[in-house]
Amino acid sequence: MTEPVLTFTDRGIYCPAGDFFIDPWRPVARALITHGHADHARPGHGSYLATEAALPVMRHRLGEIKADGIRYGDARRIGDATVSFHPAGHLPGSAQVRVEVGGQVWVVSGDYKTRDDGFCEPFEPVRCHAFITECTFGLPVFTWAPQAEVAREINAWWQLCASEGRTALLGAYSLGKAQRLLSLLDPIGPILTHGAVEATNEVLRGQGCALPDTTHITPDIDLKAFRSPLVIAPPSALGGPWARRFRNAATGFASGWMRLRGIRRRRAMDRGFVLSDHADWPGLQEAIEATGAETVYATHGYTEIFARWLSEQGYDAHVVPTEFGNEADDVEPVA
Ligand SMILES: [Zn+2]
Ligand SMILES: [Zn+2]
Repeated sequence: MTEPVLTFTDRGIYCPAGDFFIDPWRPVARALITHGHADHARPGHGSYLATEAALPVMRHRLGEIKADGIRYGDARRIGDATVSFHPAGHLPGSAQVRVEVGGQVWVVSGDYKTRDDGFCEPFEPVRCHAFITECTFGLPVFTWAPQAEVAREINAWWQLCASEGRTALLGAYSLGKAQRLLSLLDPIGPILTHGAVEATNEVLRGQGCALPDTTHITPDIDLKAFRSPLVIAPPSALGGPWARRFRNAATGFASGWMRLRGIRRRRAMDRGFVLSDHADWPGLQEAIEATGAETVYATHGYTEIFARWLSEQGYDAHVVPTEFGNEADDVEPVA
């Protein structure tokens, strides 16, 4: 019996051969990070390794960290393990981490999306023996319409709001979703942003990400000077005092969870757009099949149901409890 390449500990996913953790949730000496979302890139580690494209956002969010960048596809030896990072298609810089020890290959997918959004580096399947997969949307009800269709819906909604003289107030997570939405808009008017969104825009622009012009909403800005605006803000700001300055605004929210009617209703938004940075049900299946893996570990999401389905398909499937899933689409956006 060979030792497993990765083990699951109370601090996170651990590689004994290389003595490092991947996306650990408690402080460790050496952390490999798949992407900058808060549930994966946490503060307090001794050193960080992430893709060069993921580092600017991590530094912006975590402050002073001892971090090293690696290019997609480059191999690095750590102890007796060889690691490399491969595009996860989740947001700019996001990666799957491939770990090889003694000819055995395991891949930690982090969060991933299989369909190319034309914005971040497209998902790249990596052959492996064992695959650790998220299953945030691991139910057949979660199938995504083509992105162009959703983009048309959002642009038509903005047009409608403008024709009614209303501000279009669109809720989207500040890292990843907001910028992907920006890349999909047909600007018929000015695009205004909440500070949390604009701060991330600036970081991504600084690393060469093409985004349309946006205006940061500061306290001294005169909102009446903007005709037919669309405002992008984090969902948490939408129901609060920040949003009250936009009188007579129509509200929309873009998330994979908008696929569920009950959640749409509870969020009390005028419009829900089904757009996710995670794989849908067919996407999860395609991704897993493309790895050629026999063993699959299911983490955050519908783990039990998804692992059962995988077992029925002949996979050696296991559920792994993790502490991922506190940001973005990971959690159902209701209490
Ligand atoms: Zn994420
Ligand atoms: Zn996550």
